[in-house]
Amino acid sequence: MSNISGASSGSSSTRRERVVGVPTVCWCGAQIVGKISKLDSNPYRRYFHCAYVVSNKLMDDNHVFKWVDEALLNEVERLSSEAKRLEQMMRESEIVFDGVEYEKVVFDKVLMKVKK
Ligand SMILES: [Zn+2]
Repeated sequence: MSNISGASSGSSSTRRERVVGVPTVCWCGAQIVGKISKLDSNPYRRYFHCAYVVSNKLMDDNHVFKWVDEALLNEVERLSSEAKRLEQMMRESEIVFDGVEYEKVVFDKVLMKVKK
């Protein structure tokens, strides 16, 4: 009788070109700088770009590049899902809030007795 089932699902996909939210550092180690587009297709649109590429005026697409509005949208989506998760946690720990509520009721009753 053999009981071997080594199906460990450990697939790690490293996608360095897709940064979630606002990028802070490029994979090359350089800082991310905010720039304003001068392209005709996207005039005055703000973007984040690798400082190394910007300072050396390279035409390198491998470094971090992200539109600011897309980055902020990502950030908002991430935060709203985070808020939902926290809301769920609050609901699950409702007992704690019930305890606080109970203490408040007791306190109110004591106050009424004192007033009488
Ligand atoms: Zn870079």
